Amino acid sequence: MGDVVRVGVVGGGPAGLLSSIVLSRAGVFVDVFEEHPQVGLPRHCTGLLSSETINSMQKIAGGLSKDFILRSFREYVVRVAGSSKSLTLKIPGKVYVTDRVLLEQELTDVATSEGVNVLLKSRVNGLSSDGQLMASGDVGPRKYDLVILSEGSAMNYSTALRMCEGREYLRALQSVIRVKGHVPGHPLVYVGREVSSSFFGWAVPYRDNGVIVGYADEKASLTKLRKLVRTYLTDAGTVGEEKSFFGGLIPSVKPCKPASGKVVGVGDAIASVKPLTGGGLYPIVKEVEAIPAVINSADIMEYVRRVNPVLNKLRKQYLLKKSLKLFGGYAGIVRVFWELGIRELTVSDYDSLRFRLWFPKNHGGFGSFLT
Ligand SMILES: Cc1cc2nc3c(=O)[nH]c(=O)nc-3n(C[C@H](O)[C@H](O)[C@H](O)COP(=O)(O)OP(=O)(O)OC[C@H]3O[C@@H](n4cnc5c(N)ncnc54)[C@H](O)[C@@H]3O)c2cc1C
Repeated sequence: MGDVVRVGVVGGGPAGLLSSIVLSRAGVFVDVFEEHPQVGLPRHCTGLLSSETINSMQKIAGGLSKDFILRSFREYVVRVAGSSKSLTLKIPGKVYVTDRVLLEQELTDVATSEGVNVLLKSRVNGLSSDGQLMASGDVGPRKYDLVILSEGSAMNYSTALRMCEGREYLRALQSVIRVKGHVPGHPLVYVGREVSSSFFGWAVPYRDNGVIVGYADEKASLTKLRKLVRTYLTDAGTVGEEKSFFGGLIPSVKPCKPASGKVVGVGDAIASVKPLTGGGLYPIVKEVEAIPAVINSADIMEYVRRVNPVLNKLRKQYLLKKSLKLFGGYAGIVRVFWELGIRELTVSDYDSLRFRLWFPKNHGGFGSFLT
C-alpha cells in the first residue's frame, strides 16, 4: 500500500470521528466529509453504552467530559407484551444512557483540536477502491492513500464496492415522552409479535422524567409506536405526553467484508452492529482500535486480520438471531425460561453477550452459552 500520508473519512458519525482521531494522532493528514451541517443530527440512536465501551472511547479520544452520560442501570426487565411473563437481565458493572448528540459534538471538538479537517455540508458522491474521492461543495476530486468508509446505514459505497452483499434494515421509531411522577429505575424491553415480528421494543429512562419509548421492525409505524407508549404508561402506572420523535435504520445484513482496495469500512457502513440488540458502538471501538495497525504496517490486510475476530463473533450472533425464529423469537426464549422457573439471568459480558444462568435449587449453574 505504501506510506499513508493523507486519509479521507466518509461520514462524521462516531465511527468516522473516532477513526479520524487515531489517524491524526498517528501523524496522518485527515479530512472528514460529513453531509449534514452539524455532526450528531438528525439524531437516531437511543444511546445505551456499556462502561467498557465508554472507557475505550475515552482511551481513544481522551479529553471527553462525562457530560454526555445521563443515567446508569444495572438491569433490564424483558417482558412479553400483554402478559405477566418476564425475565430480568442483571448486568455486571453498569450500562449508561448517553446523550449521543453531545457525545458526537465532543468527539468533533477533540478531532478538530488534533488537527482533523472536518468538512461539514460535504457529501461524498463518488468513491473508488483506489482511494479516489469526489465530494460536493468546492471540494474537487481527491486521491487519498487510505479511505475510511464510515457512511453509516446508508451503505451506498460498501455495497457499490462489493464489501456488503446488499442492504436490509430494521426500521426504528422512537418517542421521548415526559411522564408525570415516578420513572422506573431500569429499562424495560418489550418482546412478542404484537410489538415486533423480528426485533423488540424498549422504554429507557432518559434525562429528568423523560423516557425514550421505541421499537424496531422490518416495517415500523407511528400507530404501533403509540400503542407501545400506552402499554408502557399502563405498566408504569403513570401518564405522560409525547415530546419528540426520532428514528433510524439498523443494518440487518450479515456483517460485511471490512476492506476493498484502499478503502477500510468501520461501523454501520459494514453492518457491524450486534445483531441481537442493534448496538453499534462496541464493534466500532474495536474496529477503531485496529486502525493504527494499518498505518504502522502500511498494510490493509493487518486491519482485516485484527477486526475479523470481532466480525466473526457478530456473524455467529447473526446466525443465532436467524435461528431464534424457530424458538418463537425473543418472546419464545422468555417463555421457556419462565416455564423453567427462571426469572433472572446474569449477563457476564454485556458487549459480547455472554450469560451466566442460575437455575433454581438442585440444578446448579452453568456458564456462558452465547459468545
Ligand atoms: C434507533 C436506533 C437506536 C440505537 N441504539 C443504540 C444503542 O443504544 N447503543 C448502541 O451502541 N448503538 C445503538 N444504535 C446503533 C448506533 O447508533 C450505530 O451503530 C452508530 O450510530 C453507527 O455509527 P456510524 O458512525 O457507523 O454511523 P452513523 O452514526 O450513521 O454516522 C454516519 C455519518 O455519515 C454521514 N454520511 C453518510 N453518507 C455520507 C456521504 N455520502 N457523504 C458524507 N457524509 C455521509 C451521515 O450523515 C452520518 O453523519 C442504534 C441505532 C438506531 C437506528
